[in-house]
Amino acid sequence: MINFTQIKSQIPDNVKLVAVSKTKPEEDILEIYKLGHKIFGENKVQELARKHENLPKDIEWHMIGHLQTNKVKYIAPFVSMIHSVDSFKLLKEINKRAKQSNRLIDCLLEIHIGEEESKFGFTYNKVKKFLELKELKELKNIRIKGLMGMASHTNDKSQIIREFGELKDILENLKTTYFSGNKDFNELSMGMSGDFHEAIKSGSTMVRIGSLIFGNRK
Ligand SMILES: *Cc1c(COP(=O)(O)O)cnc(C)c1O
Repeated sequence: MINFTQIKSQIPDNVKLVAVSKTKPEEDILEIYKLGHKIFGENKVQELARKHENLPKDIEWHMIGHLQTNKVKYIAPFVSMIHSVDSFKLLKEINKRAKQSNRLIDCLLEIHIGEEESKFGFTYNKVKKFLELKELKELKNIRIKGLMGMASHTNDKSQIIREFGELKDILENLKTTYFSGNKDFNELSMGMSGDFHEAIKSGSTMVRIGSLIFGNRK
């Protein structure tokens, strides 16, 4: 059962909702599209490319999962935002493929905030080193719009709020140090089905909600 309207009504107008449709059929996406919603998120390249091919072309597709460099070419012609940039090599490839398609692709830097061991995402120190790279300025076909992060998978709300607070602080710090005068760097993609209320209170500008809208995934 699709539960879009009720979830959407809980999200303030200044926070974007990315409806995470991974594993769900195209009919489910269309049902929500017909209600006027156009922003959908996927985490697998092949599935994303197939859904883009088959569904209305004014859907804004967001790539939210880990992205391998050799697969960027399949989504660069259409993807509107990539939430999971975690290396210079990947960003350079996104830039190259965006240029080939004559496009500008919005990107977020993924930051590792939760306690789970993860191969993905920058630490605070690594993201600072990354933003100091001179070569970044040469990438004209991407735009770094902000950060993405996931809180720990826990029922401890105070821990979740602390981790979202850390991400917000990192955004503010990076903004002051590396993006002064650049209003583009302002997005904070945080909050999923289990923690989006806490994320919004902590300054999220973009929530990524799957199971609450589409039902549980198998
Ligand atoms: C699956 C996924 C979501 C949505 O998760 P739900 O708990 O179903 O809302 C959000 N962000 C990322 C990166 C995901 O992979």
